[in-house]
Amino acid sequence: MTVNPRLLIDPNKVSVNTQTIVEMCAKHGIEVIGVTKAVCGDPRVALAMLKGGVRGLADARIQNIKRLRSAGIKAPVMLLRSPMLSEIEDVVIYSDVSLNSEPEVLGRLSECALEQGAEHPVILMIDVGEIREGILPANIFRVGEFVRGLKGIRVVGIGTNLACYSGVKPTRENMNLLLATGKELQEILGYRLKVYSGGNSSGLKLIQSGSLPAGINQFRIGESILLGRYIFDSSPIKGTHQDAFTFIAELIELKEKPSQPLGEMGSNTFGDRPEQEKLQIHFRGIAAFGRQDVPPEAVYPVNWLNGNNTEKRKWPGIKVIGATSDHTMLDFGASAGDFGVGSELEFGLEYPGLLAVMTSDYVNKEYVAGGKSYEQN
Ligand SMILES: *Cc1c(COP(=O)(O)O)cnc(C)c1O
Repeated sequence: MTVNPRLLIDPNKVSVNTQTIVEMCAKHGIEVIGVTKAVCGDPRVALAMLKGGVRGLADARIQNIKRLRSAGIKAPVMLLRSPMLSEIEDVVIYSDVSLNSEPEVLGRLSECALEQGAEHPVILMIDVGEIREGILPANIFRVGEFVRGLKGIRVVGIGTNLACYSGVKPTRENMNLLLATGKELQEILGYRLKVYSGGNSSGLKLIQSGSLPAGINQFRIGESILLGRYIFDSSPIKGTHQDAFTFIAELIELKEKPSQPLGEMGSNTFGDRPEQEKLQIHFRGIAAFGRQDVPPEAVYPVNWLNGNNTEKRKWPGIKVIGATSDHTMLDFGASAGDFGVGSELEFGLEYPGLLAVMTSDYVNKEYVAGGKSYEQN
């Protein structure tokens, strides 16, 4: 039985995307860690990344790492988000390495690892300008001295994250700052750091251009593997699929209606007044999904456009106008073609869209190979 709305996930396409990106990075001496946080640690997607050649997996949440472990995945897994003090024990048990920036957390990790008779590897995060997580380069001496005295943890590397919150681009300059800070940390610790983790998907263009300074040897890649796109301009990456994930929703109303509301106007439930284009009669549809599943600006209608049904492309024939909690309004223009009530519409996903549909319990997840469904959950 079909349950809508649903998300079609094609792990084979994720594998192909991974392989393309892993090979491209390998040419420049970079190992790739596959990031599963946008798919909530989905084990099938993680396995597809491993098949594509990633050196390990990474996720922001312990819950997702547990999900990977329960599925029997033995590959090394990195915890991306700085640990909460309340989850330190699980961090030592379930992750193989964690990214850290707070001395207090490092202290607790040390105690906890000692209690468990383990040694927990950590990567120290440096803030080279993004003002999200990280130690400021000016403070590396103080933190380095502190960490040197801690037993039970071992600093295996240094890392940074860019273009996530503020949108600072990775450049030769900020990568050099990371390298220089790493060299300083090595001096303080008295041993070599194995990992120089340069960032996320936003680094791919810099890697490909060949201008990444020598010494940076790892990137943690999620979005570009999953969606087959570069970050800043959303352009497709050669040799990857953009439709490893397709969202499907069903039409529950389709009528010719005016494009402007009729009556005295107040603001809507979401506190704004949707702007409608100037009055015209058009085919207007309602699809059975809403903000509880995915924000309307994070999905775009797709269709087979290249004739041989191998890749879906953005399709301007239908416009997403807006949404309430459970209804999404669509503009079909002057003709609705073959569409009618009950038609299934296909949508591609922007990153926030993928994140939302993966997280929504209302969206049925279906795994497909070459368009055919083989499993639901
Ligand atoms: C999310 C995240 C990544 C992966 O980012 P993408 O843009 O999906 O490649 C890498 N590192 C950290 C610390 C993250 O939080």
